[in-house]
Amino acid sequence: MCGIFGVTGSKNAFIDLYKGLKMIQHRGQDTCGIVTYDNHFNIKRAEGLVTTAFGENDISRLTGSVGIAHVRYPTIGKGGVENAQPVYTNTPYGIVMAHNGNVSNYFQLHERLQKKYHRYINSDVDVQIILNIFSYHLSRQQNFSFEILCDTVKKVFSEVKGSYSVIAYIAERGFVAFRDPIGFRPLVFGRKDDVTAFSSESVSLEAIGIDEYEDVKPGEVIFIDEKNKMMRRVLEESRQRACIFEWVYFARPDSVIDGIDVYNARYRLGEKLAEELKNRRNDFDVIIPVPDTARTASLACATKLNLPYREGLIKNRYIGRTFIMPGQKKRMDAIREKLHPIKIELSGKRVLLIDDSIVRGNTSKSIVKLVRDSGAKEVHFAVYSPALKFPCFYGIDIQHADEFLANRAPLDRIANEIGADSMHYLSLEGLVNGVGMGRKNFCTACFSGKYPQNVTKDDKSKIHCDRKRADG
Ligand code: SF4
Repeated sequence: MCGIFGVTGSKNAFIDLYKGLKMIQHRGQDTCGIVTYDNHFNIKRAEGLVTTAFGENDISRLTGSVGIAHVRYPTIGKGGVENAQPVYTNTPYGIVMAHNGNVSNYFQLHERLQKKYHRYINSDVDVQIILNIFSYHLSRQQNFSFEILCDTVKKVFSEVKGSYSVIAYIAERGFVAFRDPIGFRPLVFGRKDDVTAFSSESVSLEAIGIDEYEDVKPGEVIFIDEKNKMMRRVLEESRQRACIFEWVYFARPDSVIDGIDVYNARYRLGEKLAEELKNRRNDFDVIIPVPDTARTASLACATKLNLPYREGLIKNRYIGRTFIMPGQKKRMDAIREKLHPIKIELSGKRVLLIDDSIVRGNTSKSIVKLVRDSGAKEVHFAVYSPALKFPCFYGIDIQHADEFLANRAPLDRIANEIGADSMHYLSLEGLVNGVGMGRKNFCTACFSGKYPQNVTKDDKSKIHCDRKRADG
């Protein structure tokens, strides 16, 4: 998962990009980068957070009215500044590009680029593949037009598999945005006066004063030329499969993605969870969210079950990176650094903890212990998504099937595994109905195993190896 933000027609692109990028910092904290264009490209990429990487000194260096920006969470390719985005190529014209997603046939295409197209890339990040395929096909054309751009993006669609929402700027030609035909990852845009901005999430647009926006459609390309004229076309129509995890966990609650308000979706998921718990057990004294993502769903669940909602765990926002250490004792220490209990809300009570999801279960186990050690009489656990069982090849670092708690223990033993008195997962039906209200055009592969796009066995194993290598 990453975040992209781009702007054209701005009075000061750097200021807009800085404001917009901060709003999507939650989508990646490994590296960040901003590129502006002002007769030449001004590029700065760095490790860490936007607010520490950029400062006032950059205002005079990153000049221009157009630019693109990125925050990265590594999936393909290691972390570190060498794999930061946006990336650049000087043929044809000079192009900068950034993306959010995961090229699932990266390794096949990497070989094709070298053997067939004779293009060699200088980092491991998968946007390099998109940039080089795009620029290879564009460079074979004699001139530039919207028609030629559409043909070029069609070639990208036919070669590049997986998820990709892309923004790019072609020097002295214009601003480009496109979204893969399945529309896995979000991409929204809005225009106000002369300014047009594109972002992974609508909050960035609002941060620069653009309150009206719409989604780039799956398979659509949008081009804004140097005279600020916008052209758009859907090049390939497939059934959309938006990543449902955006509404569960990734996106900010104040964003709207593909027309669905994230806050309301999370609220409905909490209500669905309450409906399912009603048929099982609901004799709890209090409902406590695991902060921060689970707050909205927990509030909805408590309201629907007519139970008190309380804040019983406080998150330390200033902790920075916690080093993940093996062993339960050290893991416990790490959780205690991040979360602190409010004992009066927990002591002597039958507590229902609600979280967004469970991956390996180590964090859940530590949180259950923390609440029990704080004097809770009973500790129950519920998540407002189904059991995670299958790896994601479309841009989320949910990797090896054998790491998932739900694959290590049968469902009726999960509570035991995390030390809880009971455990409940939301059903897949509850998830899809809660988010979509009748719409069913989502990817749910990590829950259901139904992948919207085939990923070859070879690509799967190479992606696994790459991630293991990246994990060190
Ligand atoms: S597999 Fe899961 S995380 Fe990956 S795109 Fe599909 S729903 Fe999202």
